[in-house]
Order: sequence, then structure tokens, then C-alpha cells
Amino acid sequence: ELASRMKVKASEVIAKLMSLGVMATMNQAVDVDTAMLIATDFGYEVEQGITEEIGIQMFEEAEEGGEMQPRSPVVTVMGHVDHGKTSILDAIRKTDVAVGEAGGITQHIGAYHVRSSAGDVTFVDTPGHAAFTEMRSRGAQITDLVILVVAADDGVMDQTREAINHAQAAGVPILVAVNKIDKPNADIDRVKRELSDLNLAPEDWGGQTVYCETSAKKNIGIDNLMESIQLVAEMLELKADPTRKAKGRVVEAQLDKGRGAVATVLVQEGTLNRGDHFVVGQFSGKVRAMLDDKGRPIKKAGPSIPVEVQGLSGVPSAGDEFLVVTDEKMAKSVSSARALKAREMELGATSKISLDKLFEKM
Ligand code: GDP
Ligand code: MG
Repeated sequence: ELASRMKVKASEVIAKLMSLGVMATMNQAVDVDTAMLIATDFGYEVEQGITEEIGIQMFEEAEEGGEMQPRSPVVTVMGHVDHGKTSILDAIRKTDVAVGEAGGITQHIGAYHVRSSAGDVTFVDTPGHAAFTEMRSRGAQITDLVILVVAADDGVMDQTREAINHAQAAGVPILVAVNKIDKPNADIDRVKRELSDLNLAPEDWGGQTVYCETSAKKNIGIDNLMESIQLVAEMLELKADPTRKAKGRVVEAQLDKGRGAVATVLVQEGTLNRGDHFVVGQFSGKVRAMLDDKGRPIKKAGPSIPVEVQGLSGVPSAGDEFLVVTDEKMAKSVSSARALKAREMELGATSKISLDKLFEKM
């Protein structure tokens, strides 16, 4: 990567590295300082920030190729208002065996991990569709599967269609939960008909979509829903490498009076450990403390596990990438280079606006 960016032969870079006493192979990552030294040696002026990004890229590549292991699915529940999203999530939460262990306390951190007899599932619980779209516009695809909740008495409504559009645009499979089947005016066939017109024909009608019939209120069909999630997830063959350094996405973040900047991070690859140095958007930090979704302090978190991280230098945005790096120096130089770039862009944008305004007046 370094050689091709400098338009020289890889062997020349390797020779130069050897002259510096660094024995490296073609695809080996070198640290930022070494890369910088080599680049300067080849007559390149090194721009602060770029080397760090290259460093990160090389570092990431070096982290690839570990052992892939199955991970639990990350699920988002969507649907029209009042069709029962919150009720279904509450009913599922009651099946979580870990809630008892934690003394019944669940924190609101925007995501939670449920351990049930059917298997483990991580739910992203960000309010409304806004969070989904915001995340997507940032290229942060964190959801493996969407549960589309449709009330059996109400049928397909505006936000049902909206949810389908979001999920289909993102290429995320949909599992339908026909809810409120306890209601006297429930019409399950009508829901199936309406959804068939939207490319979501049920399996028993020759389609591809898995349907579950539920009553969150009467606690009917919840176990079956959990089992169906596992069935659909199995087909997706979700895997991650828990042995590498952690990489994930910010689900939500805020400034806490007592604890400073805190962020809920969904770990996607690797294992996040207390004490790890990281970059998150324009900020950096060291994992000072981690809490799980039940508010319990934990020392490590693997793939598909949401954690609340303390020790950030600022409040990142939902969808920002969270990346563990080798040390504090790396974390700080990358985050400051990014902050500088963002400021430059902001300044650029402001002066452009004022210029436009100026022309408007003329
Ligand atoms: P959300 O807006 O999609 O999160 O919907 P909620 O979970 O807040 O539910 C809206 C209303 O529908 C509440 O009054 C719930 O008690 C009710 N509700 C939810 N699920 C069911 C169900 O299965 N059966 C019946 N009869 N009511 C339900
Ligand atoms: Mg709700």
C-alpha cells in the first residue's frame, strides 16, 4: 500500500525497511512513524493526518484473517406507530435470562442483548425511523434483520410502507410480526394480502417471507418469534472475528453530568477490553469503564454486544465508527487530524455561504 502510493516497487520499500533494521514482508503492517520515515526518505512530504489514515488502513488489514466465529443477530424493530413495537420488545425482554441475574434492572442505552432459550439476539432500540436513516446516510449498516410489526386490526399503514422501503433499500431481510391477534377485529389474511402486494408474500402462500403471529399484550407467539429470528439469522451465516482488536459503531452518545462523554457502542468485530485506546469519529479515548445493557460493569465485550463506554474526549454522533488502535499516540493523532479536516470543511462551508449571500445582495 505504501509502495503503490509512492509509485515505487514494494521491494524497494522492503529494502529500505531492512536498512532501517525492520524485517518486513510484502503484506505486513508497519507503524505510522516508520511509514512516515520511509515516505520522507523517498522524497515525499508527509501530510499530517493522511499517514494516520493510511496507518489505520494498514493496521486494519493486518487485523484481518483471524478466526471467524458465529455471532448473534442484530435486530431492529420497525412499524407503524401504536402497532406494538415497544410492547413486543418489552415482552421479549421478559424472556431474557440475564435480566434475573442483573436483578431486573435494564438500562436504556439504545441497544440490548437478550439471552433466551431460543438463542441470543441484540436489539437496537433507537426511536423511530430517523435513527435508521441517519445511520444509513453515514454508511453505518448495523442491522442484520428487521422485524416489521403490523397490527392485525389496522393492517399496512404509512409508516409500515416507510419501514419496508428503508429495509429493502438497505438490503436487510424482513421478518413480519402480525401483532394484536387477540383483538376481535384482527384480520391476519388481510395483512398477508397487503404485504404480498409489497413483495413480502408469506412462505405458506409461496413467498419468501417468514411471518409470526403475536399478541404482545397476551404474551402469545413471543417464543415463536424468538425462534424465527434465529432461523432467519442462521440463513445469514453471521460471523465475526472475536480475536482481533475491536471495531464497532456508535448507537447513541451523550454528555453525562457525572461520567463525562459516554457512548453506546455496538461491537461488530473483535473484542473490546477495558483500557483499550480508541478513535471514534473526531474523538479519541481510553476505555475507562464499560457497562453492559443491564448496567453491570464488564471488562470485555465481543461481537454483537452493545456496551456503554466511558472515557471519550467528546460526544460522537450515532453511526460514527469506533476503532481500537495500538496506543494513545495513534488515537490522538488520528482524531485530531479528523477534527482539523472537519473544521476546515466547516470553514469552507461558511465562507461559501457568506459569498453566496454577498452575491444575493449585489
Ligand atoms: P408502538 O408505538 O409501536 O411502540 O406501540 P406500543 O407498543 O406502544 O403499543 C400501542 C398500544 O397498543 C398500547 O396501548 C399497547 O398496550 C397496545 N398493544 C400492543 N400490543 C398489543 C396486542 O398484542 N394486543 C392488544 N390488544 N393491544 C396491544
Ligand atoms: Mg413505541
